[in-house]
Amino acid sequence: MEAFMRADQYQFIKKQAKKLVNGHSAANDPAVLKALKAMVLESVIALFSTISDEQKLVLESIIDVNDQEKADIYIENLQPYVTPFQTTEPMVKKLFPKAKKIKVPSLDHMDLLGTSYLSWFDPGTNKKYLVTKLDDQWIGLQGSFRPLNKKGICALCHQYEDVGMFLVEEKGKVQGTFTKRGNYICRDAEVCNQHIVTLDHLGEFIDRVKK
Ligand SMILES: [Zn+2]
Repeated sequence: MEAFMRADQYQFIKKQAKKLVNGHSAANDPAVLKALKAMVLESVIALFSTISDEQKLVLESIIDVNDQEKADIYIENLQPYVTPFQTTEPMVKKLFPKAKKIKVPSLDHMDLLGTSYLSWFDPGTNKKYLVTKLDDQWIGLQGSFRPLNKKGICALCHQYEDVGMFLVEEKGKVQGTFTKRGNYICRDAEVCNQHIVTLDHLGEFIDRVKK
């Protein structure tokens, strides 16, 4: 069976498995647990607009998760079915044709499973970069990043985290001009990716800054 779930769906399922672990440690009432299992299963299946019996079988075993160990095994078994964030340094560089001196972090040693977007700060160009794939299209954003020295709501994952202002520079309508639009996003892209359980907010952010 081929990979059939996106990184955000994988993260969503991981959170559902965690819900079951917490539920089992908090409640002993079989009716409560039964309801929780049904709710979790329904929300996991609902992620996919089309689903084969084989895929369903893989997902359905979530209802057997009743402790952390079982959750870990379940999650591990899902991993072959997660579409990896596959890109290369030349591909990333192509997204930023003007940034000649851009340094792309080494992708070989990065754990890209569960990654919806890649982001890094390049001290050489003094810019933050963000690369993602939405609707089968690769998108690259670049801009300034100023950490806010307190927590705030991240525009990409909607969680309360350490954030900073990411001001994306886009070419203006008049040649040689730029527009800057942005929002607060997580300082740590790895943490952010773990919170991304839907691509809606990432898509909205991109739509807004690319206007
Ligand atoms: Zn975030």
